[in-house]
Amino acid sequence: MTTDDPEPGGVNPWVAHTPEPVLSITGHTAVISPVRFVWPGTYCSWCRQYVALWTDGGAIEAGIRTRRISRRSSATTPSWFRVYRPASAPSIPDGCPHPGCPRPATRTLPTGEQVPTGWLDGKWNLAVGPFTFEHPVDPRCPHPVPWAKISPLLDQMWSTMRRTHPDLAAAADAYAAEQRRRAERG
Ligand SMILES: [Zn+2]
Repeated sequence: MTTDDPEPGGVNPWVAHTPEPVLSITGHTAVISPVRFVWPGTYCSWCRQYVALWTDGGAIEAGIRTRRISRRSSATTPSWFRVYRPASAPSIPDGCPHPGCPRPATRTLPTGEQVPTGWLDGKWNLAVGPFTFEHPVDPRCPHPVPWAKISPLLDQMWSTMRRTHPDLAAAADAYAAEQRRRAERG
């Protein structure tokens, strides 16, 4: 679990005026909400620029939960988890937001009829989830923004869990370390 997730590109309009996320902790489960999620991998097919699409009102659930050690075994272990729950998938605007985009407004069908052109590549990325944030990360997984506000809340959650549930946290840490060793071994 890392705390240095990349923001998809510096200070951007979709980072401005985000609702203030709040952390609430019940036992060893935490919820951060409301969260704005912005989706990766959506590009204008005419100007090739990234098109940020986002929705507000989502949540991040995180903390410690019990998971099975393997598919073959019924043994369980406490493990850290983080789940991204966007409130909804973003809707696709009628047109590209980038000024100077060369997109033609219409195209001509063989019948001579004029129809609007499509413009957005990567619509398949606009899934609503929920997304479990673990390696390997689902390429459609949206990013919570701004990370500068989300990251301290996650840090606060982890440190609270370590204080209030030291045994569970130690077991979850041990499991995470074992998973890392396994991943390094390939
Ligand atoms: Zn464009």
